[in-house]
Amino acid sequence: MIETGTDIAYAAKCIAEGKLVAFPTETVYGLGANAFNPLAVARIFEVKQRPTFDPLIVHISEISQIHDLYDSHISDSVYALAQAFWPGPLSIVHKKSAAVPDIVTAGMETVAVRMPSHPIALELIRLSGTPIAAPSANRFGQLSPTRPEHVQKQLTDVAYLLKNEYKMVGVESTVVSIQDGKCVLLRPGAISLNEIQKVVPCTALSKESSQDKLHAPGLLNSHYSPNKPLYILDGDIDHLPLNSGVVLHQKRTDVTNASRVIYTSETHNSVEIAANLFIALHAMEDDTTVSQIFIESVEEVGLGVAIMDRIRKASYRYR
Ligand code: AMP
Ligand code: MG
Repeated sequence: MIETGTDIAYAAKCIAEGKLVAFPTETVYGLGANAFNPLAVARIFEVKQRPTFDPLIVHISEISQIHDLYDSHISDSVYALAQAFWPGPLSIVHKKSAAVPDIVTAGMETVAVRMPSHPIALELIRLSGTPIAAPSANRFGQLSPTRPEHVQKQLTDVAYLLKNEYKMVGVESTVVSIQDGKCVLLRPGAISLNEIQKVVPCTALSKESSQDKLHAPGLLNSHYSPNKPLYILDGDIDHLPLNSGVVLHQKRTDVTNASRVIYTSETHNSVEIAANLFIALHAMEDDTTVSQIFIESVEEVGLGVAIMDRIRKASYRYR
């Protein structure tokens, strides 16, 4: 069992000593290490069993820290996006400074940076005295954690786990890249493309580029998956196989032969759906009466784009 508590100063001491800390952010739980300590960062990959071609997001607590992470010529678009969305769930990929270790960026010339808005995350970064590199605190490819027990379920070998007292968005940050004066959305997330376009012109990643490892490292088709078959529910709900778990996003009365039904929302409210998506999938994963999971799709507008992205990736192997 990972030692768990609310002692942010102790957690910061662990980071400063090159150890790993699991901590809440406003999106999901992160597994953090000092971004400037390559050995500590290497342990993140080891503990998560994450392939080293998948770069990490570096978390900061002060805007001035971008000067240690990005190259000296920082684009105006970066400042405009930071001004509009930080602290908050937007990660900005931009040319990196030489000080950022290669292991953080998977050897790329760019680094993803964000300033989380979660008070515990901000205090942890501040007290650590260093930017913190952190992916989600789950085993590679598996469900993202939004509760301390989700982290306990998947990881060991972590120095400390900070408890959360606040609500989480439930899906990961939006990732945009600012390169050669252009903004490209690499991963849909808690902030929609539409909101970003109100600040800088920005386009979604093209289909061809999303196949290209250089443009979209780590954007795998299969990701965020429970350890049981997960299918997207289309239409008929009467003929479910035996031992089926069903995840729904609005009240319905026609589910009669499921072993378990979990609602992420009763009214198709996308904020509720996002916050409860991984909680519902973890609960289905843990339920021994459930052998396969069916999940409703959601309308792809606003936050729904990120929710559907996670549902498609989580169910990718079962299409
Ligand atoms: P997470 O596992 O949620 O921390 O996600 C990190 C994701 O951010 C990676 O899988 C990449 O898709 C994206 N990312 C991080 N750094 C970069 C980068 N330098 N260039 C492009 N994408 C990046
Ligand atoms: Mg992740």
